[in-house]
Amino acid sequence: MAEKQQPSGLEVHELSDDPLECWEEVKKTQPVQEKVEPMPLDTPIYPDKVRFVVVSDTEGKTWPLRRKIPPGDVLLHCGDMSWDGDPNEIIRMNDDLGNAQDHPFKICIAGNHDLTFDPHFWWPRIGWQTCGDRWGLDVEACHEWIRKDYGCEQMHELLSEHGNANWTYLFDSATEVYGIKIYGSPWQPIFGWWAFNERRGDRILYKWDKIPADTDILMTHGPPLGFCDETRGKDRAGCAELLTTIQKRVKPKYHCFGHIHEAYGQMTDGQTTFINAATCNLDRKPDNPPVIFDMPLPPGKTKEEYVEEKKKADVLKKEAWEKTKQERRKKWAEQRAAGTYRCYTH
Ligand SMILES: [Zn+2]
Repeated sequence: MAEKQQPSGLEVHELSDDPLECWEEVKKTQPVQEKVEPMPLDTPIYPDKVRFVVVSDTEGKTWPLRRKIPPGDVLLHCGDMSWDGDPNEIIRMNDDLGNAQDHPFKICIAGNHDLTFDPHFWWPRIGWQTCGDRWGLDVEACHEWIRKDYGCEQMHELLSEHGNANWTYLFDSATEVYGIKIYGSPWQPIFGWWAFNERRGDRILYKWDKIPADTDILMTHGPPLGFCDETRGKDRAGCAELLTTIQKRVKPKYHCFGHIHEAYGQMTDGQTTFINAATCNLDRKPDNPPVIFDMPLPPGKTKEEYVEEKKKADVLKKEAWEKTKQERRKKWAEQRAAGTYRCYTH
């Protein structure tokens, strides 16, 4: 069978549509599949090491976490910040985690529950009508709120350094902190009727093909096949193409994710440490502790110097975003007047 060439040159696994079967094959070729013991949360923080603190799947329940999240240099949130994308949940998360804890850098991605972050899910009305029925979200109020100014980016602004908080929101994009490269992507193999769904096989591999080969820490919402992805029903939820991308091409030091709450924990394949940091358990209780790890600070600059640089960069980002917002408001007002307005943005 002729295969379409993927940008990365990687091949889709022939069993990738059936993760359980696929893992039975793939695991035979795995050199290492070992559990990793968690680092104690009270481990001291050193000037020459960057402390990462990872949470995921807080699903709007961040209030009890205020005192449970240890300090660190970087806080990572791997998606499902909210239960249904309600802006108020994001505002609450900010109040609980964004301001109350002292992490100079905070990086997040969205997950399947963060419905309003996914313009492809939200704007075709089918998405929000269905989610309103199923999850009790006041979709009309939410829709009004989102469309009044600048689309789904209004959600990002709630979090980001150009808006109200100091999270860096990644959406198939990268950032660098303390000289360490981090890439984030929200997609998961199709999972019910939720946001950021993508078909297994070549379609999802196109998303993973965007991950730069020099990524040190990869953040996705869902797990790769075989590592911290086993469901309560002993099924495998992970993505074969994500595992291939990690093992054959990107080889990050750490891969952080969540999504499958019951598979919380850490494993290694001898090359990458896989961290399922799902904070909520299957009962939606935020009882799983945050996960921490350290990476060496590259020589050349102190942590304090990096933090000072960030503060300056944030001011510029804010100014640039204000300009974009004003331009967009103007354009949309003109479109509304002309009857050509379609509120659809990335
Ligand atoms: Zn999820």
